[in-house]
Amino acid sequence: MNKKITIAIDGFSSTGKSTIAKLLAKKYNYIYVDTGAMYRAVSLFAKQHNLVGIDFFHSEKLISNLQEISLSFRFNKELGFSEMFLNGQNVEKEIRTLEISQLVSKVATISEVRRKLVKEQQEMGKHGGIVMDGRDIGTVVFPNADLKLFMSASADKRATRRYKELIDRGDDVNFKDILFNVQERDRIDSTRKDSPLVKADDAIEFDNSDMGITEQFDRICTLVNRKLIEN
Ligand code: C5P
Repeated sequence: MNKKITIAIDGFSSTGKSTIAKLLAKKYNYIYVDTGAMYRAVSLFAKQHNLVGIDFFHSEKLISNLQEISLSFRFNKELGFSEMFLNGQNVEKEIRTLEISQLVSKVATISEVRRKLVKEQQEMGKHGGIVMDGRDIGTVVFPNADLKLFMSASADKRATRRYKELIDRGDDVNFKDILFNVQERDRIDSTRKDSPLVKADDAIEFDNSDMGITEQFDRICTLVNRKLIEN
């Protein structure tokens, strides 16, 4: 019987990390954890309590309220993946808006927020059999992950994908704002002091600007199968 491995997927915004992670989790019957959803849920809490907005951030108040934030993932059988719950409420839709995307990277710079979420992520993954995606999974959360992937794609391709996603679900957004947000999040995520977005030395890089999902998934499955044989 193969050991259940840990798969860490990091990379820039809207590089299709979660699509690949969900497919892997389904194929290998692993748990999928979308850590971006956790940072988004904390940002939603901060927004609901007027602690953060486009031009203000009461970070000290957020830090002193962190113990009020309880996050959980609950599997939705119909959708085939887990949804994010904040203090018992399903917030899956609210956390995916452009407004939250504009606040989340600011919230994610706070070390106290990161410490809380990283601890919860390590707990979820302690038995292996997990696919986790984010920005610091292969560097900070699971530096000893069995397989580390790092996804990138041109900002234009990524913004086009994100724009389509938001339009398809009925949001009123324009492409320029989405492109700006993708680039701005890359900048903040890559330059923050605590756990910046960097490729782990032993991560395998995928630039999927011109690669379809099927080709990418096939290549990644080959890597996973190799790791499963080694283990
Ligand atoms: O993955 P997603 O695009 O939903 O992540 C939203 C934001 O959450 C990122 O732009 C980043 O600021 C933050 N994040 C992070 N560390 C993670 C996952 C997400 O800082 N592990």
